[in-house]
Formats: sequence, C-alpha cells, structure tokens
Amino acid sequence: MNYHTHSAFGLLFTLITVKIIVLFDLVDISYLLNGSLFNGTLIKFYLAAVVGALMPDLDHAQSKMGQLLWFISKPLKFFGIKHRGLTHSLVGIVLFNLLSKQLVTHNWIEITTWWGLNIGYISHIVADMMNVQGLPLLFPNDKRFKFHSNITTNSWQEQFLVFIVSLAIIIIILQERSYINLSEIINMITLN
Ligand SMILES: [Zn+2]
Repeated sequence: MNYHTHSAFGLLFTLITVKIIVLFDLVDISYLLNGSLFNGTLIKFYLAAVVGALMPDLDHAQSKMGQLLWFISKPLKFFGIKHRGLTHSLVGIVLFNLLSKQLVTHNWIEITTWWGLNIGYISHIVADMMNVQGLPLLFPNDKRFKFHSNITTNSWQEQFLVFIVSLAIIIIILQERSYINLSEIINMITLN
C-alpha cells in the first residue's frame, strides 16, 4: 500500500474508532467527531493519526516516511530490519506504543495526540493485511497473516480502495456534523 492509501485509511480507521468509543460511552471524546475544526487538540489528533499510519514503513528507506525520517529508516536498515517485518507486527505495535509514550512523558505531545499516533499505527497494520503478501504479525515468527483481499501495491484495486475510503470519510464527517442525515436518506431509498 502506498502512502496515499495509508493516510486515507488511517483517517477512516481513526474516525471509526472514535465513533465506536463514543457509541459505547467509553470516554467522552464526541468533540473529536463534531467539535470545532479549529480545536487544536482535534487537529493534532487527526494529524497524528495520519503520521502514525505512515510510521510502520520507516522500515523501508524509500517510503515517504523513510525518506523524511531518514535518520531513523537508515539505521533500521543498517541493523537488518527488513521491510514488512518487526515494525509490521504486534511486537512493533507495542514498541511504538512505548517509544511514543516517551513524547508524552517529556511533555512534547498531549496524550490525545499520542492516542492518534497509535490508532494510526494500528490502521497501517490492518491496511497492509489486505495486501497479497500479508504480515508477520507474530514476529519473530515468520507466519504471515492476511485478509482474503489480495490487493497489490499501486494496483487499480488499491486506487479503488482509496476512492471508497475517501468517500466514507466525507460521508462520516458530513453525517457527524449534521450536514446530511444518513438514516433519512436510507429510508427514502428503501421506501421508494
Ligand atoms: Zn507497510
């Protein structure tokens, strides 16, 4: 999956995660769905989600994030970390979780931003599991896990996925901000 796909999917995955948390009343974060678009915490949360969604590909020096953060991707390559290995596994998720927590401990980022980073990171793993090659979720074990979707990177299927994901993001944002009413639209269609 390329970085367009991971950015879009990361945003959708994060929106859905927030929606589920709000629906089940786990934490009151409804402002992340319908709060002011100028709310600093909201902006940082979703930006962090997109950044987090690109982080696992730091194991690939030629990836967008790998080029940008070359001072991380180059050493990873030097130490023999292969693409779609450690950073694309459950151990990778836990490591990223702990390392990024340091940014909160040192007061460099807010806890909400940290959540954004981590939800985004997990979205990348989910998205790459739609890829034909699958991921070694139980790294260092080599067994690869994947969904039945067999999408190859930069294929028309991936472009179609980005289109559907982007459409879903727009619909969720419009629905949450009451610009459209999905249940009314569905009622209209089904009653006709
Ligand atoms: Zn990846």
